[in-house]
Amino acid sequence: MKKFFTILLGCLFFSAGPAFAHRPIDFSLHKLAGDRQGNTLLVIGGIQGDEPGGFNAASLLVTHYRIKKGNVWVVPNLNFISIIKRSRGVYGDLNRKFATIGNNDPEFNTISRIKAILLDDQVDLVLNLHDGSGFYRPTYVDRTHSPRRWGQSIIIDQRHISVSRFGNLGEIASQIVAEVNHYLFAEEHAYHVKNTRTGEGDTEMERTLTYYAIRNRKPAFGVEVSKSFPTHKRAYYHLQVLEAYMDLLGIEYERAFNLSARGVRGAIDSGAKLAFYDNKIFLDMTNARKRLGYIPLKKAAKVVFRPGSPLVALVESGQSYRVFHGNRRVTRLVPQYFEYDSSIEAITIEVDGDQRKVDFGNMVEVAQSFLVVPQKGYRVNVIGFKKPGTGNESGITIHKDDITKRFSVDKGGRLYRVEVYREKKFSGMVLVSFSDKREDLIASDSSTVSLLNVSDLGNGPLEEDSSVNLEDNSYLGR
Ligand SMILES: [Zn+2]
Repeated sequence: MKKFFTILLGCLFFSAGPAFAHRPIDFSLHKLAGDRQGNTLLVIGGIQGDEPGGFNAASLLVTHYRIKKGNVWVVPNLNFISIIKRSRGVYGDLNRKFATIGNNDPEFNTISRIKAILLDDQVDLVLNLHDGSGFYRPTYVDRTHSPRRWGQSIIIDQRHISVSRFGNLGEIASQIVAEVNHYLFAEEHAYHVKNTRTGEGDTEMERTLTYYAIRNRKPAFGVEVSKSFPTHKRAYYHLQVLEAYMDLLGIEYERAFNLSARGVRGAIDSGAKLAFYDNKIFLDMTNARKRLGYIPLKKAAKVVFRPGSPLVALVESGQSYRVFHGNRRVTRLVPQYFEYDSSIEAITIEVDGDQRKVDFGNMVEVAQSFLVVPQKGYRVNVIGFKKPGTGNESGITIHKDDITKRFSVDKGGRLYRVEVYREKKFSGMVLVSFSDKREDLIASDSSTVSLLNVSDLGNGPLEEDSSVNLEDNSYLGR
């Protein structure tokens, strides 16, 4: 696993320009390239912000797949601000702006940029991922299973476009459906091909991304999973579809998790990580408390971090920072500002009696106890350590019970911060995890803090999967 993730450190963030403290939140393009030449698949997630199956699946391609042959280009977060705000579209429906868009539309630049990517000569085939209502059926079964629903379908605008390769959209969609239907949790989940016959006068669908693509001779499909499922099951089905398309295009890949409901859930959760300032601070926020205090950020400097997934955003909010992972509100970081010391990059820790060197930004697994080996000139602060009056907590054997639980990073009371200082300067942090589970940092390139109008972010539950909508009465799709 670890080796695999190390490879992923090379992921490119399209928007990684000069670092600012404040910038609008924007989508990223990730070009995953195999060692061997082949076709290029473009995958788009998050065109509508309230469809987490699509954007989580797309994001997993970036963090948990390695392409061996051919290319996969991924935009996992096209409508990033709407993802964070859990809205279909903060500025209206982005997937209705591909035919015409006003110069003053706040999404004008987004549309221009994504159109250029869609029409890039290298792109052979385009997939736009959606979560749609109910279950599409070619003939009416009941309200939830009907031609008006969208879930579990591969959408084409027409059966054929005249291009030299992959123009037989109808046949391709049928092949994908046949393949994916081998991997259903239940018969009800069966996929079908939905042909919107857009060119025959569907003025709504004429304005979509895929229709723009096919009018420009680029093979494109809509992919719809049912909103009846929780997020990880939606992402499971999307990944089955994505892998079927990769197979069809001859794209070879490796995946770092089992393609099962459980495997996908774990892979999604593992993205809730942040590393600050070249790993001096690393926070695993998979099950983080609502608020983490006294985070030692760098005084008078831009906050620069590496996210565990392209869906992680850090948003300035008054004196603190809110962390988002897709449409989950993960935690709030309350900083305390320090000057930084860069004289050391690691500490020595005795873990259950075994001594080892641990680089800052890493997490160590502890079964019983740990002890930070004293180093002259450096002071250790184990956040929440109970014994008062100890200026320096190195050289002390510490058990889980010696730490006050409410200071843990996670809600479960397993994960604790060990911070190192040199006089008044902060040197670095490691995490200690009292458990039998070990996870490695997955990080992409550096990113910067975003500034949103946080007043309208609402106050939804933290971490909850609020996406399952059993009373799904909308026919919104695509
Ligand atoms: Zn959609």
